[in-house]
Amino acid sequence: MTTPTPRATPAAIHIDATRLRATQRGALPHAAVLSATAAILLAAACAPAPAGDEGPPAAVAVTNATIIDGMGGPPIAGGVVVAEGDRIVAVGPAAEVAVPDGATIVDAAGGAVMPGLADMHVHMVGGWDGVSTEMLGYRRYLNALLHAGVTTVFDAGNVLPFIQQIQAEIEAGRLPGPRVYMAGPLIDGPVPIWPPITYFTFEASAVWRHATQLADAGVDALKGYAGLDAEMVDSLVQAGADVGLPVIVDLGMRGDYAAAVEAGVLAHAHAPSGPLSDDEIAAMVEHGTASITTLAVLESFARRRLGDLAFLEHPLIAATTPPWFLDALREHATRSLSDQETERAAAIEALLMTAMTNVKRLSDAGVLVVAGTDAPYPGVFQGEGIHRELELLVEAGLTPLQAITVATRNAARLMDASDEWGAIAPGLAADLLVVRGNPAEDIGATRDIVAVIQHGVILDRSQLVFSALDDLGFRTVGSVAAN
Ligand SMILES: [Zn+2]
Repeated sequence: MTTPTPRATPAAIHIDATRLRATQRGALPHAAVLSATAAILLAAACAPAPAGDEGPPAAVAVTNATIIDGMGGPPIAGGVVVAEGDRIVAVGPAAEVAVPDGATIVDAAGGAVMPGLADMHVHMVGGWDGVSTEMLGYRRYLNALLHAGVTTVFDAGNVLPFIQQIQAEIEAGRLPGPRVYMAGPLIDGPVPIWPPITYFTFEASAVWRHATQLADAGVDALKGYAGLDAEMVDSLVQAGADVGLPVIVDLGMRGDYAAAVEAGVLAHAHAPSGPLSDDEIAAMVEHGTASITTLAVLESFARRRLGDLAFLEHPLIAATTPPWFLDALREHATRSLSDQETERAAAIEALLMTAMTNVKRLSDAGVLVVAGTDAPYPGVFQGEGIHRELELLVEAGLTPLQAITVATRNAARLMDASDEWGAIAPGLAADLLVVRGNPAEDIGATRDIVAVIQHGVILDRSQLVFSALDDLGFRTVGSVAAN
């Protein structure tokens, strides 16, 4: 599996870029929490650095924080996390961790610091409804993710060159956005459900060509889709092994999880929402098969969240979403349903309940459970969605700390990158979320964001909100789905 290359550019450059963007709007970001160091950095940003002298590493210290390490460790009250450059360099109680002179301080008094969140099932191609196409508006999604503290995503199916370019530009530091892992197109059978984002497969041997092409394109995993039969899934896993790529599968409602587990898939793209036997769970443990949760998308299809639209006022949604998306969602949520639609929603709510039970069983059994949302769908937003997923995971019976691990460390483990990001520990990427309250006691506190730190840089979240002045007003078109 390939991992996005760690950014080689000096961290100071990224800080400079943020500061410069802020300067263009005539204001310093987060003046209340930034020390004079920020102004010095800003001044430095405006003058070219002498060749070979990038200056001292920028240090950021989060102080007075309850530290939630993302690994399930006991929270540390009154803790300090220090980042230098793009790395965490020190973590611990205030008495044991020195704050470097000149560090920019984020005072988290009464709050907590946790790793940046990861949503390991998104599609940055779909409009708010999940089926219309939203490509030119991609920056709204990237901004919404960062604004919500999501510093890593796995794009689980997209137009290949589109997501390739997004990944490459973010890695190069030219486009603000979370760390992106990608599958590229879905690999489906001969009658695909999502034609514009799919490679069709008419026979098992064809998957080798797809796998080779996608490996050359630099994808991080292959995504097998619902139209593949068991033989094709098996071939895809073998083809993936030949080119060094794991396979993540969505088997649809077929329910033949055991065959895919036996074949050696890395993960199921959705938590099972049907019957799951103890033997099947044991097989997942034995084969190291992970499960990406996506409870949020089931909640969307069950229309469970749409009965009370007050959640649309939450800043993580209201501040980052084009108003016409919200108008369309309100219309979708309030129109009268046919009897058939009502029955379908009720049936899916039962699937949601089963999926929640399964997630708890998988977690208890030691399966690697990883948070994902399948955003966007009606009521499942890029960014806010992972906070909803955390709440659903706690509703499913996980403790808040377990849920946070599922959306941080476990995501990194899925991508074989836990020595790179996903937890608060020295040497790991300084991707941090600072919130008010204590999410270890009340998972809803993850929404109350004080600061998002990415690559050791405090993001200016005021630059990440939707602005009608800056936005060109692109509307979604057509459909990614087959008719
Ligand atoms: Zn999906």
